[in-house]
Amino acid sequence: MNIREIKAKSILRKHKKIDSWFVSRYGMNLYRGCAHNCVYCDGRSERYQVDGVFGENVVVKTNAVEVLRRELKPIGRRVKLKPGYIMVGGGVGDSYQPVEEKYQLTRRTLQLLCEYRWPVHILTKSTLVERDLDIIKRINQQNRAIVSFSFSSTKDDVSAVFEPHVPPPSERLKTLAFFKKNGIACGMFLLPVIPFITDTPEIIAEALRKSHEIGVDFVLFGGMTLKDGRQKEYFSSSLREKYPELLAKYGQIYGVENKWGQAPEQYYNKINSIFNEMSRKYRVARRMPPALYRDILSENDLVVVMLEQLDYFLQLEGKRSSFGYAAYAISQLNTPLSAMKSTLKDIKGVGEKTEKIILEILETKNSAYHNNIR
Ligand code: SF4
Repeated sequence: MNIREIKAKSILRKHKKIDSWFVSRYGMNLYRGCAHNCVYCDGRSERYQVDGVFGENVVVKTNAVEVLRRELKPIGRRVKLKPGYIMVGGGVGDSYQPVEEKYQLTRRTLQLLCEYRWPVHILTKSTLVERDLDIIKRINQQNRAIVSFSFSSTKDDVSAVFEPHVPPPSERLKTLAFFKKNGIACGMFLLPVIPFITDTPEIIAEALRKSHEIGVDFVLFGGMTLKDGRQKEYFSSSLREKYPELLAKYGQIYGVENKWGQAPEQYYNKINSIFNEMSRKYRVARRMPPALYRDILSENDLVVVMLEQLDYFLQLEGKRSSFGYAAYAISQLNTPLSAMKSTLKDIKGVGEKTEKIILEILETKNSAYHNNIR
């Protein structure tokens, strides 16, 4: 492992709008590159400009805590930071990868976020996160904390092939149960499911059943992307070795050049419908439930997240809606919706039904339609 220490200029990565998956406005990467080296990781793609051999080189932002303190300080800020979860993890490096044991950047960052009373959503594949239970509990007591784990399935043998350097799914599930027992909300990111290997009804059902048994608060689901270049080459060489019989099928769904490395829409529709059916069977929430975010967002962001969630639930049922358009248009507004109650229908994508939903959310922070459809 080659470790390169650098001084970062900034840490908080601002999203263009509220991210309704993580319900966050800001994310951060304390490390660039990831020793976990999952075979499918899209952080390997040239698009993300991670230097060196992915999996062997990790950049450590040694001054991350000092820079973040400056960024969080309310005094002297021209523009106030927007409320929402601060996302720790995801992106191009797991915040609990092995170097964290030495540098403790994630732990110190959590201490700082606790000091500034920010809600935190952690996403990892490493059970090392248990080390930080004390701070996570403190954050949760004064505000909110969520611990999420990502899985491509709950099969230990498949994980050994595609995620060889992280604890097996059975261990990750134990850690989720550990946090649930300690009163922390938890999410499962069933993402990415691996085509023709972990995208079958049986394997998706097993993951949902296990998450239901633990009492996970929500499960986010998604398929795999395979971008041309390093990511596709690395994945294909592993496939050639372990699942040569699948090479032709992969060629069919990832054969056409596509800058995001996406499979055809029909493929995602198929796996989404499996997920839809199984998530109903095991009664798991398919997005973060409003109880986990309604008190921490601005009114516009609350409406955006709930409308985007509605759009997703309908998509899972194979239906189209204008909720996504309306959410996007609202995310671009600078005026609070409560000051626009009489002109909501002037917003792009907002018709009579959406107007009613928005007014209800503004009044009650809730939506009967969202509750039903969820
Ligand atoms: S843990 Fe996440 S960031 Fe790290 S290699 Fe695996 S998928 Fe990539």
